[in-house]
Amino acid sequence: MHTLQQSVKEFKNKLNGWPGTLVAVTKTHPVALLEEAYSIGLRDFGENKVQELSAKAETLPQDIRWHMIGHLQSNKVKFIAPFVHLIHTIDSESLIKEIHKQGLVHNRVIEGLLQIHIAEEEHKFGLKPEALHTLLAEEVLAHYPMLRIRGLMGMATYTDDQAQIQKEFNGLQALWQTCKANYAMANDWDTLSMGMSGDYALAISAGTTHIRVGSAIFGERNYQPK
Ligand SMILES: *Cc1c(COP(=O)(O)O)cnc(C)c1O
Repeated sequence: MHTLQQSVKEFKNKLNGWPGTLVAVTKTHPVALLEEAYSIGLRDFGENKVQELSAKAETLPQDIRWHMIGHLQSNKVKFIAPFVHLIHTIDSESLIKEIHKQGLVHNRVIEGLLQIHIAEEEHKFGLKPEALHTLLAEEVLAHYPMLRIRGLMGMATYTDDQAQIQKEFNGLQALWQTCKANYAMANDWDTLSMGMSGDYALAISAGTTHIRVGSAIFGERNYQPK
């Protein structure tokens, strides 16, 4: 039998000593599977729905680092604000404002990433690079100190064209570096989140610091939540 422990070990072997953070994407999987993942040492879990994330966090150990990787509506920030480790999907000023507000309510600085639209598909969320430059040039983040942005997140086009994916990841890496070099608000950025089961190797070769991997570790999901 192929156990979860074996899958995780095999997957980590493929990473070949890569020093970054593996976010284990546990969306749609039952709490029992997360408990098993926890028991073999995984601590960074990614979920894409607020309700599911909160429900799981309530029953699982406190030292899990919960990553919100799905589209986040402002009115739901309050449910994860007390404990979320990193929100990967910040893509509007209204969301920035609400996260700051909930940080005040819960007296904690909430950490997150700005999601950038790098794919060709129109439906993917994220700020356009021009909007990111404006946000940083105008020092918008300075008004919201209870949110600490640590870097950028992106999702590549869903395609078999490896060169296309590599180009998009390299582009996001370059954008991240440009921001770090040119904007005071971005000088200390240390996080770049890109790469999933199908394209993590390309993300690593583009210098990502975080990968978000579900099916390559846990197998196929029963449904593909949007
Ligand atoms: C589901 C999801 C992942 C993981 O997808 P896999 O292909 O199963 O590795 C990564 N990032 C985001 C934003 C997701 O929604």
